[in-house]
Amino acid sequence: MSFDSLPLAPALLSNLADIGYSQLTEIQAAALPPIIEGRDVIAQAKTGSGKTAAFGLGVLHKLQVERFRVQTLVMCPTRELADQVARELRKLARAIHNIKILTLCGGMPFGPQLGSLEHGAHIIVGTPGRIEEHVRKGTLVLEHVDTLVLDEADRMLDMGFQASLDAIVEQVPRARQTLLFSATFPDAIEALTARVMQSPLLVKVEAKH
Ligand code: ADP
Ligand code: MG
Repeated sequence: MSFDSLPLAPALLSNLADIGYSQLTEIQAAALPPIIEGRDVIAQAKTGSGKTAAFGLGVLHKLQVERFRVQTLVMCPTRELADQVARELRKLARAIHNIKILTLCGGMPFGPQLGSLEHGAHIIVGTPGRIEEHVRKGTLVLEHVDTLVLDEADRMLDMGFQASLDAIVEQVPRARQTLLFSATFPDAIEALTARVMQSPLLVKVEAKH
């Protein structure tokens, strides 16, 4: 399946050609069409299968860059993963002028994050502990978020972020699209999807042997 068959903006499509993406990966082919339609999607596929672009292109397709507000919140288990996701999103967003993608992770000094937040952002990528801290202090306001992404959700639960996730999700408007990516589906993930998602579609790409 080629990216040109998707109803994406021409600028996004020509950038994909520029960065050398021509065919969708298997998980992208399964997840991206329903994500573009606005559905809640649970996606399960192994590492390296292109999950970031699967949600990233949906997020960038929907984003209104002229509304300078936080519209998308992406949560990742670690700073390294958040940095990787932010890098991939910036690469996918090269054709969108003036888009601001900000990372907010623990283990980084708080002060510079406050300064960056004052300047504003369209997309926040970060780890649950630090995001919760900003939300609690009122330095990050989530009232205009319309897309919530939980990346590597199983690892976030393994790392003990359940309470932070719940506190953050509570502050995101209910009328939103929620996308959840996970390599495994233990009961805790099932329970999380039931709490935070609406009629989610499950897409799964089995590992090949
Ligand atoms: P995952 O989150 O599933 O572990 P990533 O989103 O990090 O995987 O993607 C893995 C690698 O594949 C990245 O280097 C990314 O740039 C590349 N990639 C993703 N989608 C495509 C595509 N459609 N064509 C070519 N490369 C891609
Ligand atoms: Mg990933």
